[in-house]
Amino acid sequence: MSTPQSREQWQQMADGLAINGQAFINGEYCAAQSGETFDCISPIDGRLLAQVASCDLADANLAVANARAVFEAGDWSKMAPVKRKQVMIRFADLLEAHKDELALLETLDMGKPIGDALSVDLAGAARAIRWSGEAVDKIYDEIAPTAHDEIGMITREAVGVVAAIVPWNFPLLMACWKLGPALATGNSVVLKPSEKSPLTAIRIAALAIEAGLPKGVLNVLPGFGHTVGKALGLHMDVDTLVFTGSTKIAKQLMIYAGESNMKRVWLEAGGKSPHIVFNDAPDLKQVAKAAASAIAYNQGEVCTAGSRLLVEASIKDELIELIVKEMQQWQPGHPLDPNTNCGAVVDKQQLDNVLHYIRSGLDEGACLVCGGQQVLADSGGVYVQPTIFSDVSNQMTIAREEIFGPVLSVITFDGMDEAIAIGNDTIYGLAAGVWTADISKAHKTARALRSGMVWINHYDGGDMTAPFGGYKQSGNGRDKSLHAFEKYTEIKATWIAL
Ligand code: NAD
Ligand code: MN
Repeated sequence: MSTPQSREQWQQMADGLAINGQAFINGEYCAAQSGETFDCISPIDGRLLAQVASCDLADANLAVANARAVFEAGDWSKMAPVKRKQVMIRFADLLEAHKDELALLETLDMGKPIGDALSVDLAGAARAIRWSGEAVDKIYDEIAPTAHDEIGMITREAVGVVAAIVPWNFPLLMACWKLGPALATGNSVVLKPSEKSPLTAIRIAALAIEAGLPKGVLNVLPGFGHTVGKALGLHMDVDTLVFTGSTKIAKQLMIYAGESNMKRVWLEAGGKSPHIVFNDAPDLKQVAKAAASAIAYNQGEVCTAGSRLLVEASIKDELIELIVKEMQQWQPGHPLDPNTNCGAVVDKQQLDNVLHYIRSGLDEGACLVCGGQQVLADSGGVYVQPTIFSDVSNQMTIAREEIFGPVLSVITFDGMDEAIAIGNDTIYGLAAGVWTADISKAHKTARALRSGMVWINHYDGGDMTAPFGGYKQSGNGRDKSLHAFEKYTEIKATWIAL
């Protein structure tokens, strides 16, 4: 079947879709052992999509035991890298072959526009699996520079059982940023998707088996953070825990590790990224396009959202006017319409969060320039207008806390030093943007910013070849690129006397 081209065609495909809400343990779909389920509700129109298995400690124990057993047996962990590569590439091929179904599941489950689900989430997920697979038979170990009568070997080995806990904003993409390097290096994985968006993780488990991944190597446990998530965090036989989600839960996972087996914990957490525009920016129209997209894309549910726009005072009015114009392109629409570029918020609770922050902006004296309202309520779904506040101080709540919605705070500055000071005045350090025609100013600012990613004269660049992650309370370790492989391997030094 070819890719649907209209909302009606996507709706037709959705109506005929069989949605599986089961867990996946040791190569088989199954109910949670307790028999418990929870409702998976679409934020597009409030429809019930599926009953999803609500896993807990018992399921975590079973999945980890199976993951451990197959790791010890070596079906995957001891397979030659070139063979694992072939399975990973088949897995990527299958993700691509099923891209329409997977993109549709993602959109129905979390409300993002179907065009983005296809072109960003599915394309990126398949690329992460393929790239990691292709890399794994090209990585060499090391020999130490020793005296003539000894050999020092420095080798990398798979860590064992990896638990991956992922969020709802890019459900499949975040899962595949972990699965790519975790599986390619020979580990067994227990994946816990967010309770707000479990459907694609569940579906791809069968595709992994079809690609040739041995049973037990990939397990998927849908369920809540305080049940199955906590069970994995505290598990004595999970070697490494990788996480993408909020800073609050990231800190909790470090505590779990300390309370249990000191499992390695790698965290991709929140952000409050400064998007800095100097008054010599080459093209303000281009800046306005990027600034609008940086806060409205994916309904603002992006960890790297350019949520603090730092504008040099002399160009503030001109730039805000251009951004307000750009925002007309980002009004919420039906997520299954291929022309929609801003969809539904993930659920009612998240909508309430966003509206709460909008009220706090008004209460603390920021100036509402546009947006601010819930819209399309008669659809039964949850939608909010992209919103711009000007006259924001960096001390206001909307400038300090991650909103995870389409709410932009415009803050003015004078000169490079003030821009850097405000940019760094945050607990986060994930990403930053800098616009200027002055190459020295660009480099000086980029160097001074305490963040894992800096984009110059654009926003949100990079691909699988560049590491992704943050400084400070945005996390530790990196996803993507060969640096991601470091999280999934232990280093062994073997010293031989000749
Ligand atoms: P969240 O922290 O609430 O949940 C993330 C995951 O953790 C979910 O699967 C959830 O069920 C699980 N969880 C919750 N409580 C748990 C517990 N006590 N023990 C174990 N697991 C638990 O985050 P979210 O709302 O799903 O996602 C939004 C957050 O994710 C934002 O803060 C955003 O910035 C962040 N994020 C970061 C990146 C990045 O790469 N830095 C990327 C995307 C999203
Ligand atoms: Mn959902």
